[in-house]
Amino acid sequence: MPSPENFNEVLSLIDETAKYHDEWRKAQGEERKLRHALKKGRSIDYAMWEQSLAAIRTARKDLDASFEKTSASAEKNFHVGPHSRNGKIHGGLFTGGRTHWNPILGTEETFFKVERGKDSPIYLRFQKKETAKEVTLGQLLDDGRVVISINALQLAAKARNPAILASTLEHESVHFDRMLSQDGMVGHAQNETAAYQRIIDIAGDIGLDADHVADARSNVSSRLGDVNLQGWQSHFSGKPYRAQPGSKDYPYVPAPDSHLDGWSAYQGRLKAIEKDQNELALRIAAVRSGADPWFLRDPPNARRTPPPGASIHDGCSTPGFMAGDVYMPPMPCARILPQPPADVAIPAVPAPRPILIPVRASRPLLGLAGRICADPSAAHSQPFHDEYAFAWYDATQDVSALPKCQREIYLVLVRIRQEGSPDFNSAYFQAMAENLNLPQAPVFVPPAPEIDVPVRPGPATRDCVLADGRRCIRWR
Ligand SMILES: [Zn+2]
Repeated sequence: MPSPENFNEVLSLIDETAKYHDEWRKAQGEERKLRHALKKGRSIDYAMWEQSLAAIRTARKDLDASFEKTSASAEKNFHVGPHSRNGKIHGGLFTGGRTHWNPILGTEETFFKVERGKDSPIYLRFQKKETAKEVTLGQLLDDGRVVISINALQLAAKARNPAILASTLEHESVHFDRMLSQDGMVGHAQNETAAYQRIIDIAGDIGLDADHVADARSNVSSRLGDVNLQGWQSHFSGKPYRAQPGSKDYPYVPAPDSHLDGWSAYQGRLKAIEKDQNELALRIAAVRSGADPWFLRDPPNARRTPPPGASIHDGCSTPGFMAGDVYMPPMPCARILPQPPADVAIPAVPAPRPILIPVRASRPLLGLAGRICADPSAAHSQPFHDEYAFAWYDATQDVSALPKCQREIYLVLVRIRQEGSPDFNSAYFQAMAENLNLPQAPVFVPPAPEIDVPVRPGPATRDCVLADGRRCIRWR
């Protein structure tokens, strides 16, 4: 049993995560309500909708960060977790791939698409059950990804007992250790029997409540018949038992596309929401800038020239500087990283999506806006258009103190990026910058840190998959 202080530390972190979860759900509900009203043409303050959209992102970021702290604290204070935290996967479609222990929070049924370079992707599913009989607390996916359901935290918060979360982590640890073991997971029944038996064994040490212990016991006893039968079969045949794909006992996803239909439907739902949001953002941008939103995008064959006298490529690695009334953040050199970074911070999105590396340095959209203001004709340069496609921005950033031109250009660039536009219209932004370029007092913006963002796989695509921004699964 952890000390009362340690017990309370985990419990208060669980409460914090549950609170962020509520905030995230609330922001989602608000955004949905406003979006539907706006779609129906009802007049609602646009800023309110934008605020709730930003609130969703902030709350999800907070939620995921809080969960990470909570699960780490539960592992440390209750002495639970896998024996080996990283290693090679044995069994299933991911055999030979490397993975490491890194539990993530599951808030709803989620599908993951795991890219494998030239090979077809594998689709995985986190199944969140909430029936009277069964509640999903956690799940180990085939690529070694452990998803802990928000249910485990909510139950722990309600019972005021963090051991419920600790036992869930331990349960998944037993699966994880087996996946990394030489034989891999031989069958579903054996998996679950071992994991629940482990919970029964440590229940006294961690202070698990009687209900959950009873639940673990019934899970063991309901599978014991199958496990014993498998033992007898292997005894008489002289071959160790191993469930085959097609058997109900097979503990892995049988085929890469087993969950393709589910994934497609899930993507369809996400895309529909995204499309509505993008349309609204575009409409709002048009209303605010007085332009036809469709004009904001360059025609696909637009000809571009480098800005006169400016050598954009030489801007690489220069320090930040003031150009007129606009601060230019430093421009890092674009580069391909030879190795994926261990921890790439990817902005929180409702559904983590596997992302192909390589990564390349991304510049702030704010800096691009500044450079267009400093030289409006530069809006025609190809490097600026390339930079736009990969530039990052923080929708929650307060830009009210920026010079007018930089601020206005930036806000419209953000909107068309949110709208999903892969490009911006050169002539429009040149004209906008020229009109807005009135002398103003210099305003200093501290240089923003450079972050790495995933880029579309190019010719140099490496044989490595970065899933949900944290885990790299390497292929031979
Ligand atoms: Zn299990």
